[in-house]
Amino acid sequence: MKVCSTCNRESQDYVEFRCPKCGKTRIVRCENCRKTAKPYKCEECGFEGP
Ligand SMILES: [Zn+2]
Ligand SMILES: [Zn+2]
Repeated sequence: MKVCSTCNRESQDYVEFRCPKCGKTRIVRCENCRKTAKPYKCEECGFEGP
């Protein structure tokens, strides 16, 4: 289980990747946020993306 970076809910179905801009933080996105294309934000550099 991981906490989704966007909705802060725990999810078993998620993707995890590094911030495409700074590469420092790991972004976790649950299936639901992926499907609905919710934006995420990097804590480190403030990058926002789908
Ligand atoms: Zn989510
Ligand atoms: Zn970043």
